Amino acid sequence: MITFPKRKIIIIGGSIGGLFSAIFLRRKGFDVEVFERADGLSDRGAGIATQKSLHDVLAKAEVVRPDGTGVEIDGRIMFASNGNVLGTHDMDQIMTSWGLVHRSLLERIPSDCYHNSKSMVSLEQDAENVYATFEDGTTVEGDFLIGADGTWSSTRQCVNSEAKVDYCGYFIWRGLIDEMLIPRDVFGQVSRRLTFGMAPGGHWLGYLVAGSDDDLTVGRRRFNWAWYRPGTEEFLRELLTDEKGVYHQYGIPHGLVQKKYRNAMREEAKRRLAPQLQEIIMATETPFLQPIYEYMSERMLFGRVALVGDAAFTARPHVAVGVSKAAEDALALSEALSCSEPNVGLRKFERDRTELGRAIAKWGQDLGSYCGTPAKDEATQKKALYYQRPEVLLSVTAATDPSAYYLDERKI
Ligand SMILES: Cc1cc2nc3c(=O)[nH]c(=O)nc-3n(C[C@H](O)[C@H](O)[C@H](O)COP(=O)(O)OP(=O)(O)OC[C@H]3O[C@@H](n4cnc5c(N)ncnc54)[C@H](O)[C@@H]3O)c2cc1C
Repeated sequence: MITFPKRKIIIIGGSIGGLFSAIFLRRKGFDVEVFERADGLSDRGAGIATQKSLHDVLAKAEVVRPDGTGVEIDGRIMFASNGNVLGTHDMDQIMTSWGLVHRSLLERIPSDCYHNSKSMVSLEQDAENVYATFEDGTTVEGDFLIGADGTWSSTRQCVNSEAKVDYCGYFIWRGLIDEMLIPRDVFGQVSRRLTFGMAPGGHWLGYLVAGSDDDLTVGRRRFNWAWYRPGTEEFLRELLTDEKGVYHQYGIPHGLVQKKYRNAMREEAKRRLAPQLQEIIMATETPFLQPIYEYMSERMLFGRVALVGDAAFTARPHVAVGVSKAAEDALALSEALSCSEPNVGLRKFERDRTELGRAIAKWGQDLGSYCGTPAKDEATQKKALYYQRPEVLLSVTAATDPSAYYLDERKI
């Protein structure tokens, strides 16, 4: 039986899931403390495609930005490798950035509730309390603990040491550049669109996002691009190793990717991608990379501990709902913890959100079925052929209402 005599909730991870949890729980009258491992999360540079569900949950959190939450686009376009248009698709959408969403949430949390440079290393729980211990040797006590600590969650590791994150067999090259660096004729073709290019092993995509300091002024925004490339685990290990031979398992810092790999990517782009997209890549001084991982939990609740966001389910990014999923997990958990029968509420939270998280992660597998080295089994090959068709890819990747797809069993 879980009770909350102190009404004190510990939140591990100060990114999207952690901050939404803090906002919703404070509103329910809980005393929350957020502990974030990094010493500052000012800008991770990631572009975020949004959906209606994200705007709905931002409104519920009363996060309203008078200047808007991102750059408005009105459709999608795909270029063949010779630069011809392979397809277009109308879809109004707002493209935002991780930094803008994060800062908007952080503004709503009192600074004494949010602690940087606090890395949780272990946790324990008994019948009444949960205790989190940090790298600096300090321990904090609460009624309940939320693990919002992402794909490589330490919380999850403490409650389920057998959990294993899977590498999907592909990674992305990424770039983020000032919009003014893109030649004007190319800019005119991509500025109001989510732009795609198709290449064997994975597609390229790019769109405008806010500039530094969340600036949405025309001329001060940035262009965010990503190119999915296949890579074995052995090759990934090489890519994540810097010039000095140091291996960065959880992600290589942007400036440390070896020059020979950046140059090889540029050469490959010349062979495989449309001239317009090559221009954007060539204008990017320091492309960086990110491996694609996935994880699906069997459970989200472990006594006085719950997992939310990517810690519970990391979906491949093609679905592009990780932010709203983390936010909705947080909302559902806050409602469960504050209802008249929390034990019943928590069981419902786990049942509903596990089912949804799994559906989203599986949808990510479908959308990414043609990325990486070609599949050997017939079912995946069939999916791969279907999801790389321009008209399909343009309408379903990072769609504004993805639930229409991931909740539909008849996807193909
Ligand atoms: C390339 C790419 C593109 C994406 N595009 C989109 C998109 O277009 N739309 C979308 O909705 N989503 C997108 N996503 C997914 C989205 O970024 C994630 O789903 C979202 O950030 C998950 O939030 P989270 O809070 O659960 O985890 P995270 O954002 O991963 O945050 C976890 C936090 O926990 C902290 N932490 C970890 N361990 C500890 C510890 N031991 N102690 C304390 N703190 C700790 C970390 O430092 C981090 O700040 C994309 C993801 C990728 C990789």
